[in-house]
Amino acid sequence: MLVDLVNDTEYIDMKLYNVIGTIKGALSECVVLGNHHDPWSAGCVDPDTGSSAMNEVVNRKGSRSRLGTSQNHVPQNHVRTQLCISIDVYPLTVRSILASWDGEEYGLLGTTAWATQNSDHLKRNCIAYINVDESTNGGDILGPVGSPLLAETLYEAAKVVPSPLGEEAEVDNGWCLLDIGSDFTVSQHHLGISSTDLAFNAGPRHAVYQYHTKYDSTLWMERFGDPGYQKHKAMAQLWGLVAFRLASNAVLALSATKYAQRLAEGFASMNAPAAVDASELQRALARFHEQASHLDGFRAGLSEREPTDEEVWAVNSRYVAIERGFLHFAGLSQRPWYKHLAFGPGLWEGYGGVVFPAIADAMFLKDVAVIQAAVDLTTAGVNRVTEFIRLP
Ligand SMILES: [Zn+2]
Repeated sequence: MLVDLVNDTEYIDMKLYNVIGTIKGALSECVVLGNHHDPWSAGCVDPDTGSSAMNEVVNRKGSRSRLGTSQNHVPQNHVRTQLCISIDVYPLTVRSILASWDGEEYGLLGTTAWATQNSDHLKRNCIAYINVDESTNGGDILGPVGSPLLAETLYEAAKVVPSPLGEEAEVDNGWCLLDIGSDFTVSQHHLGISSTDLAFNAGPRHAVYQYHTKYDSTLWMERFGDPGYQKHKAMAQLWGLVAFRLASNAVLALSATKYAQRLAEGFASMNAPAAVDASELQRALARFHEQASHLDGFRAGLSEREPTDEEVWAVNSRYVAIERGFLHFAGLSQRPWYKHLAFGPGLWEGYGGVVFPAIADAMFLKDVAVIQAAVDLTTAGVNRVTEFIRLP
């Protein structure tokens, strides 16, 4: 039987509205928290579970940002939680930007427009981007995705936040893969800013989540997804704590060693043809690991005494340089908007992420010379970053 399918879609021009609030800090550096506010339909999970957590973070900081009051920002405020832990008296040394994005579902339009308009400022000043698209889609597994640099900050914060699930809480250790499913794509893959997306994700034991349908509803949430809204509360606490620690601690508690480990794992599973010489990349990764360990060790030593301004600068600038240093300004050859050589969305993997995307893309072409060129390009990137972070 021959079926004639027609996709009858009306294309219209319309305005999108990003709502941006800022909590001032003493320095020009910033941490950005983001969640989108446009849903496909009912949107109780996606994005309202994230929007309600963001509103709680904003409320808790006492910020009178316009989040939640704009005519065009319509989070369905069916959730009201109270933060029961203190996000506290962290003196904010850097600014926190809280962003409620529009147009995520149509192709990450709101974030992409804002971040590209502000790219120079963000590349100079942005320490990290923390996204929460969905606080929970019904599951119990805290399964963040994002840059391995942020792993330590996240785990340390997760230890402080009371579990909404008692003993059953689980943190997914495979968290440092990057997918393209949400608003951190432009910051991580285009601008080289360490980014993460936090969520309590569902596993096979959990209620089926009616993704992007009209059944993504308050009824489903209250009956199956998060009865009592405890996971919403925990996410607001975790999000606020991660962001405000990043914005207030003098020395960034990031983990270069985890980054190096993740790249080594990526290398081990690369599966390049035998004719491709990847030995120099392997040596480059070993040197990067060594310098990453030195940097983390030096940073750990600073936590035992009062660091000087020069020491704080030496450590923080090197951590930030890791992500920026992996940018290849010409971009990946088959999709030049993506510029990051360490992590990227897969070319054909949908929401899946890959390590060394230039090499992964080249593999699809099955041409040894092209793959070798991608390996060499990636090796140069690893060497560049290693020199950036080398301590005197
Ligand atoms: Zn979403």
